[in-house]
Amino acid sequence: MTTNAGNCDQRHLGCSCRGDLAVHERGAQERAEARAQAAELAPCPECDRPTPPLQLVTWGNCRACRTAHSRTQEPLRW
Ligand SMILES: [Zn+2]
Ligand SMILES: [Zn+2]
Repeated sequence: MTTNAGNCDQRHLGCSCRGDLAVHERGAQERAEARAQAAELAPCPECDRPTPPLQLVTWGNCRACRTAHSRTQEPLRW
């Protein structure tokens, strides 16, 4: 098995293994965990609080912001 120093397929993702498989594996795992966490929670655009993406998609902000808005905003009357 040959290692191609500096020829890592995840270098563009920030891998600094330079062909060191142990470093590469560790880095790959860290990136995978970071991605999994990012998929779980995303920062609310208003308060930066980690929020499930579903809430951001549904309301555009986190539960706390939504509650605050619904308290401060009068319901619109047409
Ligand atoms: Zn690598
Ligand atoms: Zn918020």
